[in-house]
Amino acid sequence: MIPIPTDLPLKVDLYSDTLTRPSDEMREVMAAAAVGDEQKGEDPSTNELLDLVKALLGKEEAVFLPSGTMCNEIAFAAHCRPGDEILLDEKSHALQYEGGGPAALAGALVRPLPGERGVFTARQLEGAIKPVSRYTPRTRLVSVEQPSVGAAGHCWTLPEIRDVTEAAHRHGLRTHLDGARLFNAVVATGTSAREFADGFDSAWIDLSKGLGAPFGGVLAGDREFITEAWRLKQRWGGAMRQSGIMAAAGTFALRHNIDRLAEDHENARVLADRLAASTRISVDPIEVETNIVLFDLVHTEMSAMELNERLIKEAGVRVSAFGPSTVRAVTHLDVSTPDILYAADAIAGILAA
Ligand SMILES: *Cc1c(COP(=O)(O)O)cnc(C)c1O
Repeated sequence: MIPIPTDLPLKVDLYSDTLTRPSDEMREVMAAAAVGDEQKGEDPSTNELLDLVKALLGKEEAVFLPSGTMCNEIAFAAHCRPGDEILLDEKSHALQYEGGGPAALAGALVRPLPGERGVFTARQLEGAIKPVSRYTPRTRLVSVEQPSVGAAGHCWTLPEIRDVTEAAHRHGLRTHLDGARLFNAVVATGTSAREFADGFDSAWIDLSKGLGAPFGGVLAGDREFITEAWRLKQRWGGAMRQSGIMAAAGTFALRHNIDRLAEDHENARVLADRLAASTRISVDPIEVETNIVLFDLVHTEMSAMELNERLIKEAGVRVSAFGPSTVRAVTHLDVSTPDILYAADAIAGILAA
């Protein structure tokens, strides 16, 4: 998932849904935002965003953070003491793409579970929880990623989530929801964010993915948890001042850009359907549930990296290499259905040549 930086003009950029740029309307709302000192709790636009997220996730308190990564890392450090163990799926963003944060910042041991498309079972969880003794690390936290980014946006069902959070609580563990793209799962499944977040002691959403805000995440939980999260936010330099300019973009995104995620999902399915027609691509359109398409290159010498380089140069299309012969394409607010058809033809064309 290492991006190929390019200064070539791109027609269609499917590298990630983080590429979305604030629309003119969003920029107007940002420019007009009422602001104050966030770290004193005096920024009205930030407070408005927090109220909205608290209502959406059904949590008592919330805190605005500059990134989703900081939401995960602060939550881990708030739940765990050094030497504690965190259980999560082996493909998790927190394990794969956060620079070793759980070890470096929370001092926690991370034990990856071999999930099925990012989803592990209550049985697997219970099998991994260590018995309490002075020899063993204390198994303290389970983290669930909904949807699983490493598994092409596959969604946990509500019963799967409930089984895991209930088992965790029975064993005295804390529960954390990495909901970077939670609203993609909400739109794909019809289950509300509140229902998904219900069994978790902490939950967060990213504003800068498919929702289209320039940055930020909101971490939510009970008052005691957020008090501890704030202590770490202050310590790690995440406390802000006039953050309302960014928070207003987040509120705008939550009010306008949730339902339209269905268009991104439809575009991802269209892309997968088109690609499935190529004999050099292995992809199962049925597995496309949200806005991420993972496909494998078959019967060709071309690597995912080479395909991407040629796509950029020859067609102005960028994807990303997710493995030696695995390619990832992510649909988002700034790509239309005609863009998707163009990109699908470019990919199939280069592979056929
Ligand atoms: C993007 C992402 C993060 C990190 O969020 P940033 O805002 O990029 O720091 C964490 N978890 C998942 C599942 C993500 O997709």
